[in-house]
Amino acid sequence: VVAKLNLDRIIGKHQDFPKPGILFRDINPVFRNPDALKFIASEFSRKFSKTRYDATAGIESRGFVVATAVGMKAGKGVIMIRKVGKLPGPTIKKSYDIEYGNATMELQTDAVKKGQRVLIVDDLIATGGTAVAAAQLVEELGGKVAGFGFVIELAGLKGADRLRQMGYRVESLVV
Ligand code: IMP
Repeated sequence: VVAKLNLDRIIGKHQDFPKPGILFRDINPVFRNPDALKFIASEFSRKFSKTRYDATAGIESRGFVVATAVGMKAGKGVIMIRKVGKLPGPTIKKSYDIEYGNATMELQTDAVKKGQRVLIVDDLIATGGTAVAAAQLVEELGGKVAGFGFVIELAGLKGADRLRQMGYRVESLVV
């Protein structure tokens, strides 16, 4: 049994990073805290206990830590959705808009099998652009998005609402 824990108190908040006017949420203190890391894994395992999935996909780079914690607890492997140019072999790419500009993500074509159910996780959802691009990569390979898990949801930016309107299951730990 993992004790209930106030994640919001542990998350760092940095005004004007990486640009003036932005209040940056820093998950690093959460990752450094072993109880908080365990709590993340157990909360997602509870929230997705009735969801069928085969693998956990993390979005570079903070999503990798979340995906590993969740995947190990659930007995699933981890798929890395990476920034462009890091993955060897055949890949597919997707460009998308982010809060602070434009980016491209990449996935190995053999990372997702047809019909495989993938739980996509990340540290934080803002506008949802990153999450939508990740879903498109998984689906382009014939995979199914079993759901999305975010440690932090910035509700004002409506990204999670956007995903729900698209029909996806979304769970966030701190809204
Ligand atoms: P979105 O695509 O607008 O939803 O932005 C989400 C992506 O940007 C995620 O991969 C986050 O890691 C990153 N991101 C946006 N805002 C923050 C923040 O305040 N703290 C940490 N990461 C952020």
